[in-house]
Amino acid sequence: MEKKFLAACLALVLAGSALLSCRSAPSPSTMDLIGARGKLLAGVKFDFKPFGYLDENGENVGFDVEIAQYIAKQLELPVEFVKVTSQSRIPDLLENKVDLLIASMTHTVTRDAKIDFTMTYFEDGQSLLVRSGSGIRGLEDLEGKTVAAVRGATSGLKLLSFQPKSQLQLFGEYPEAVKALKSGMVDALTTDRSFCIAAADDNPGLEVTGGTFTVEPYGIGIRENDSRFRDFLNQALMQMELDGTYAQVYWKYFQQPPSFEIQVLPGAGVMK
Ligand code: GLU
Repeated sequence: MEKKFLAACLALVLAGSALLSCRSAPSPSTMDLIGARGKLLAGVKFDFKPFGYLDENGENVGFDVEIAQYIAKQLELPVEFVKVTSQSRIPDLLENKVDLLIASMTHTVTRDAKIDFTMTYFEDGQSLLVRSGSGIRGLEDLEGKTVAAVRGATSGLKLLSFQPKSQLQLFGEYPEAVKALKSGMVDALTTDRSFCIAAADDNPGLEVTGGTFTVEPYGIGIRENDSRFRDFLNQALMQMELDGTYAQVYWKYFQQPPSFEIQVLPGAGVMK
């Protein structure tokens, strides 16, 4: 009896360890998909100057676009730009329409539940764009006012948390929101400050007001649990900082020395 019991125990232990050792095969990395396809599909903005927009010749340009180009160079592959909006970007990534998102996207805890992010490559803050002479100088002047924001952006909800007495009007893409502000349909537009500055430069009669009232760390978005791809992207970002390309691209789009540096970890650039 005792022998039978011991044998049964042994069988159970063996079955358990067999189960443990037979882990499922690792799912393929996006690195493999990109390699098999022979090009990188980068989700970028088309409506968010200076990060992702179209120039007068209809070419994709911008700070984020140049980061995508640098990553493609590191992969030694061409890049195709895929249009994403603030609202479509995470679904587009999860539906495999793009390999990554370099799309003015703030790394937030809420978004972290659905996708992964690389290290921060830029830091902005939320601000306000208004019509010149509107008298709006900051959040306190938005009581009872209508404020434009874009669907899928962090900006709308954050504005309401700072000024619950304002009314939000949501738009699909940034040009519509700017149009609504110019026409007087809304009293202000809220999003990251760099966009507000670029929009004020391009649209006489608009101005940026107040300072920034949030911190927006931008990260590259990728699908979850792909450490090989994330490591590669983090290395590429650090390399971009180390070889001076990051500062060069920063100067090109912001006409000033970088106010942000990509954090370079020990060993970066030597992991070949
Ligand atoms: N950085 C903010 C966000 O990730 C606003 C800019 C945008 O709409 O992409 O939501």
